[in-house]
Amino acid sequence: MSTAPRSIRKTGILGGTFDPIHIGHLLLAVAAYEQAQLDRVLIMPTGISYFKASREMKVTDPQTRLLMTEAAIRDVPFLECSDIEAKRAGNSYTFETMEELRSLFPDDELYYIVGADALCMMHLWKEPERIFRSCRILVTERAGQVGSARLSEAISDLKERYGAVIDRITLRNIDISSTDIRERVMQNKPIRWMVPETVEEFIRENGLYRGEAQH
Ligand code: ATP
Ligand code: MG
Repeated sequence: MSTAPRSIRKTGILGGTFDPIHIGHLLLAVAAYEQAQLDRVLIMPTGISYFKASREMKVTDPQTRLLMTEAAIRDVPFLECSDIEAKRAGNSYTFETMEELRSLFPDDELYYIVGADALCMMHLWKEPERIFRSCRILVTERAGQVGSARLSEAISDLKERYGAVIDRITLRNIDISSTDIRERVMQNKPIRWMVPETVEEFIRENGLYRGEAQH
């Protein structure tokens, strides 16, 4: 019997609301793919986001965000869209998702990809130690949202409290958020080059972000 080691596939996971997905998300996925030598990155829109829902923010329904995300990455071989969270009925917790991925892909090394703003909130997520037990973290700075010193502090804190394995990746500063894009659409301003053309079309065709009557 062969004793050759089974090959380990390195899978990145970029979770987010993606309301809408924009070039910041896509360049983050590419930076992680290149710098951590990943084999693929799963882009995973959230289902019902308990954080955002509880703040009474209006979030576009999961199915629509899933379709929009699929449209964004359709022709990129190493980017895949995952519907695990969007298809789930209730709240989604990252630790459950990671444990599900662990059992779906037992031979994969899992890398959860986050921006600094998300990393700084992770101690408030449900069962953080179970997240850090199931995957490694790749984090990038997000200038304008979280300073470099605060990020370093958050990294040491999570390492100390939970034994988290966290690596930093570098990304040019892309000062774009989904919030900006929703506001620009609402104000009838162009969003060209801030999102892929397919996403721009999707937003237009589905009348997203135009005001109270929609989604
Ligand atoms: P919103 O303004 O609605 O909060 P967002 O642009 O922050 O949207 P999310 O879907 O909340 O997008 O973010 C998903 C993940 O992508 C998070 O880990 C976040 O830190 C990261 N991210 C989003 N935009 C950028 C960006 N411009 N540069 C680096 N990381 C980003
Ligand atoms: Mg955000």
